[in-house]
Amino acid sequence: MAIERTFSIIKPDATERNLTGAINALIEKAGLRIVAQKRIRMTREQAETFYAVHKARPFFGELVDFMISAPVVVQVLEGENAVLKHRDVMGATDPSKAADGTIRKLHAKSIGENSVHGSDAAETAVIEIAQFFSGNEIVG
Ligand code: ADP
Ligand code: MG
Repeated sequence: MAIERTFSIIKPDATERNLTGAINALIEKAGLRIVAQKRIRMTREQAETFYAVHKARPFFGELVDFMISAPVVVQVLEGENAVLKHRDVMGATDPSKAADGTIRKLHAKSIGENSVHGSDAAETAVIEIAQFFSGNEIVG
């Protein structure tokens, strides 16, 4: 299995509750390496571009408002099978359906305010990483 990278966001509901370290501990315990990380305040334009795939969904406006409501921590994670490994440790989108021990089961407030984002495929990860990081900011 080749080493892969994925894109991660610690969302506003989690940064507000000072959970960056707790979430990073779960990420690292899952065998993923944080090879880039920065805390930013997303602009509305950045959030709309990032979630453009959900533009037609009824929750789009609420999602963008949420993502710019407080700082987020954007990250690049590296490891074997990183995309799937990260999705596993995140848990299901809806925390009430997330497996025990996952980030969303432990920390998410609701299906919208669900603490973390993770890329859904290696191809998506490349696009998402490029939206927030330049190559020299990623140190593997
Ligand atoms: P995931 O983040 O698990 O990949 P999606 O890509 O389907 O989930 O949705 C993107 C984000 O949109 C979710 O993480 C969540 O913050 C928000 N979201 C998804 N479904 C809903 C919903 N039914 N109501 C409100 N917000 C939602
Ligand atoms: Mg998604």
